[in-house]
Amino acid sequence: MINGHTQLVGLLGWPVEHSLSPAMHNAAFDALGLNWRYVPLPVPPGSVETAVRGLVALGFRGVNVTVPHKRAVMPALDSLDRTAQVLGAVNTLLVERQADGSSIVAGCNTDALGFVGALRAGGFEPGGGQNCLVVGAGGAARAVAFGLLRSSSGRIAVLNRTLEHAQALVADLGRADPAYPARLSALPLAQAPLLESAQAAGLLVNTTTLGMWPHVDASIWPEDVPVPAHLSVYDLVYNPLETRLLRQARASGANAIDGLGMLVGQGAVAFEMWTGQGPVAKVTALMRAACERVMEGQAR
Ligand code: NAP
Repeated sequence: MINGHTQLVGLLGWPVEHSLSPAMHNAAFDALGLNWRYVPLPVPPGSVETAVRGLVALGFRGVNVTVPHKRAVMPALDSLDRTAQVLGAVNTLLVERQADGSSIVAGCNTDALGFVGALRAGGFEPGGGQNCLVVGAGGAARAVAFGLLRSSSGRIAVLNRTLEHAQALVADLGRADPAYPARLSALPLAQAPLLESAQAAGLLVNTTTLGMWPHVDASIWPEDVPVPAHLSVYDLVYNPLETRLLRQARASGANAIDGLGMLVGQGAVAFEMWTGQGPVAKVTALMRAACERVMEGQAR
């Protein structure tokens, strides 16, 4: 029931109507008996700073931030956590009330942590020191590579169609810590480097849009070449949940992990920041079940 005590959070983006976040957060609030609601907040480009001031005025406890505002929102914030600074992108805001009645707005990024949690839940332990391949060099690849740099000790190769984008990612993340440059490399996304690097890696992550609806027959992995069975394969694409890449991985006996875990994982970390309610694993399970219900409904 919404009443005078209801606490508000939401999603600030443009567009927001297809997001799974309202369903997953509201399901977790209901299951945990919290008088909180998560609402979609469509904010056109150019209005994001006004929207942040509005959140404070309306007493919101925080929001998630999605495209196209992840970078544009930064000048409106009072602080940024380390991950948001390194990635140059914010996906969660926390409105913190001060003793004098004023509020400050903190910007965070929960994508890297959400990804690493999803990897572990999927059976790959990044702390094992194995090498990792990240295919793609967009915004999601930055979060994935940073999550791997922080949680593992292995080398990370970033393969991308446009080599310059992979080189820029490697250079940017390399500046975050003196130990990182020696662990990072950039390669073109072509069959020879992909197959060669995969032999020496424990994890392959697809962060490109290949395989995403409606191009469901596309895959970063070549046809007629078995995926090495020792690999764990993580596909960030979650529409569809079972991508062609994951089917190729399973057919070869590799460990295949779907993209819903990262979506839910970043949400569960934000949920815990706003509400103080954990443990994240319990929230994650509730959220995943809610997303699956929505996705099943959409598929009918
Ligand atoms: P982005 O910034 O637009 O980056 C897209 C990447 O895909 C770039 O590296 C691009 O290469 C590559 N790419 C696009 N078309 C390609 C093609 N035909 N062949 C080879 N490479 C191609 O997008 P993003 O925000 O990083 O998102 C990437 C994917 O991750 C999307 O499917 C998104 O839905 C998914 N995602 C999932 C989660 C999750 O929680 N599971 C979170 C974030 C994103 P170039 O540099 O050459 O253009």
